[in-house]
Parts: sequence; structure tokens; C-alpha cells
Amino acid sequence: MSVSTAAADQSVCAPLPVLGRDVTVPLVTGGEVAYAALDYAASAPALQRVWDDVAAYAPYYGSVHRGAGYLSQLSTDLFENARKTVAQFLDCREGDQVVFTRSTTDSLNLLAGALPAGCRVFVFETEHHASLLPWRDAQVTYLDAPSSPAQAVDTLERALAARDPYGPALVCVTGASNVTGELWPVRELAAAAHAHGARIVLDAAQLAPHHPVSVSDLDVDWVAFSGHKLYAPFGSGVLAGRADWLREAEPYLAGGGASRRVTRRADGAVDVEWHDSAARHEAGSPNVIGAYAIASACKALTEAGFDTLVARERYLIGKVRDGLAEVPEVRVLSLFGDDAPRVGVISFVVDGWNSSHFAAALSAEYGIGVRDGLFCAHPLVRTLLGSDPQSQGECGAPEAAPGEKSLNAIRVSFGAGT
Ligand code: PLP
Repeated sequence: MSVSTAAADQSVCAPLPVLGRDVTVPLVTGGEVAYAALDYAASAPALQRVWDDVAAYAPYYGSVHRGAGYLSQLSTDLFENARKTVAQFLDCREGDQVVFTRSTTDSLNLLAGALPAGCRVFVFETEHHASLLPWRDAQVTYLDAPSSPAQAVDTLERALAARDPYGPALVCVTGASNVTGELWPVRELAAAAHAHGARIVLDAAQLAPHHPVSVSDLDVDWVAFSGHKLYAPFGSGVLAGRADWLREAEPYLAGGGASRRVTRRADGAVDVEWHDSAARHEAGSPNVIGAYAIASACKALTEAGFDTLVARERYLIGKVRDGLAEVPEVRVLSLFGDDAPRVGVISFVVDGWNSSHFAAALSAEYGIGVRDGLFCAHPLVRTLLGSDPQSQGECGAPEAAPGEKSLNAIRVSFGAGT
């Protein structure tokens, strides 16, 4: 994947305007430099357009759902229209629900609490901890890291075929890895899951900011993503998909907004009738601004056009990979190989360098913000580094001295606003 001609330079579109692009930072070597944020996979800077939309909403601030006043009605409309915008953005099916949550982590924990009794969960060890860990009350089968997309499908098929075919089952899979940026064969995995009577939830935290996600076309049962990785501010996320398990589950949180009717019985106890809609899992006053901001980001990305955004990102990926390839000490981490399609997330180690020191030096000496660590995907990064699972490499922890085997890695990530 090599794109380095002047012609290619001219053909790429302009980045979407994001906040913080004009920030300058002091360097330890003296002077100051325009800051380059290359940590979009952790949190992408909010789009200027989203910020402006939120500011335009601020004068109309009113309580949602429960007020008769004009501003309350307006807030309620904005909140419910945000739900529709997200459903459109994800190309949801008729009858799907869009639940507003705090994040992808929150969405997947919500779904974990909605699993039917006896549900088995299948998850690759390569997942982000948000997808790997929420299934504490289920029987979980952890699948080994595959070395190709085809092997991922094969591994899943074998595991599903070996289970009791009559019990409920859920597969949880990422759309794009937060470590390697590689795209996973979601459509094929969904087909395999359904062929074996299982359901599938797509962790689209890294996919949705870079590629269109169609619930209908991919035929996934649920999708989860976070606002702060999709160019909206922190604090809001989405779980969208099939209504049945969500409708039958206990509410994620108990409280006002989730309850349709609460009555005191003659024996003194309290009976609750919960909503069947998304509100069932949105108890308490919801994050209206967060939902509105997510909807604004969905519109902005759709209007910019994913074809354009994907082409630009492909160009940037080529530039970064070509640059890294010129440094013999650099090893880029990959499960599926150099030619695998990927988003703008690239992790690597530098021979002779401690990754944490390298990342700190990029910031202090060049004003470039990257991430170092195990990226909340400890099993995957250890597999890619070939390191001992008992070694002490952790998110943000100090690691091996220069010259020793790396215990963690460096990640650069970017996207439409870069
Ligand atoms: N899934 C993937 C693939 C991620 O990269 C992340 C965050 O890095 C998450 C889930 C969790 O997202 P959040 O921290 O917004 O809940």
C-alpha cells in the first residue's frame, strides 16, 4: 500500500475541521510547535460543526421527556430526533431500537445484562477489553487469535458447531481493531453466527468513525459505538439493534424514565411496569446534549461522504506506513499481514527503544501525541509482541529497558479530521 506521488497529494480532500488543530505546544528542545494529535483511536477531537451545533442548542436547554413547557418539548424533540438520525446512520432495520448509553463499554455491559438465561458467548481473545470482559455472568468461549480473516470465520464456525445447538448464543466481534487497525470479516462472521443459530454484536468503536456501518447489510444483531471516537464530545454512546432481548431484560438502571407505571400494592410492596422501548434502559435524566452531538457527528460524516473520507484516510495510511517502512528498527504489528485492509490505526515497536520513552519523546521533542501501552487489549498486544503473559506490561506502565524485548507498543491513529 504505497501512495506517495505528488498527484496523490493533490487529489486528497481537505480534513474535516476539528477542535484543537491550531494548538501550539512548547518543546523541551526550545520553541513551540503546532501540536499534532495522532491519538484518534483513543478519542478523536470533536468536529467544529458538532461544537457549533451544541452551542446553537444551548439557549434552548430544557428538561427532556417530562416537561410540558416549550423548551422541554424542544429538548425532547432533539433527543428523539437524534435517535432517528443514529438509526439512519447505522441503516437499522424496522423495529430496531437505538439506546443512548455512556460509551461502547456501557453499551456492551448493557447487552451483557440482557442475555437470555443460559446464553453462551463467543469472543476472540483479540478483542478490546470492552468486548472481552462484560460477559461475566455467561459461559464464555474465548477464541484464539486468527492469522487471517478466513481463519477467524473458520475458528468461529468450529466453536459454534461444537456447542449445544439449542441454547441461545452471542458472538461479540470488533469491526476494526484498536491495535492493528485491521478490518474484521464482519459480514462473514455474522453469516456464520446466524447459520449456527447464534446472534452477533458488532463493536464498531473503531469502525464507525472510518467506514459506513450498515446493520441491515452486515446483518449484525446489535452494534455499539462511542461518541468521543466519532468526533462528538465525551460521555455518550449507542447500542442499536434487535428489540426482543432488550425488551425482555431487566432495565439496565432502575429509576424514573424507564418505568411506565409504579404502584403500591395492598401488601405494601411496590409493583413496576417497565417501558418496552429504548427508554427501558435509559433511566434517569438522559444525556441530551451527548445524544444531540452524536447525531450531529453522524450527519457531518454522512454529508462529507464516506467514499471521500475513506480515500483520504487510505492516502494517510499509505504515507505513515511508507514512512515507517523506511526505518529498519520499526516493526509494525499485524495479525492479518501487510496487505490487510485497515483503518488509520497503526501500532509498532522500535527496536532498541522503550515504547513509553519513545512516545514521551515524540510529545516532548516534536509535539506529536501518540499512545503507548497495551491499548486495553492485553492478550492481543502480548500475542503480537510474543511476550510472556506474566510479564508486567500494562496500560501506561513502565516497560522493558532499551535493548530488551518490548512489553508494550506505540500507536498512531488518525482519521477524517487529521
Ligand atoms: N472497543 C474498541 C475496539 C475500542 O477501541 C474501545 C476504546 O478504545 C472501546 C471498545 C471502548 O470504548 P469506550 O472507552 O468509549 O467505552
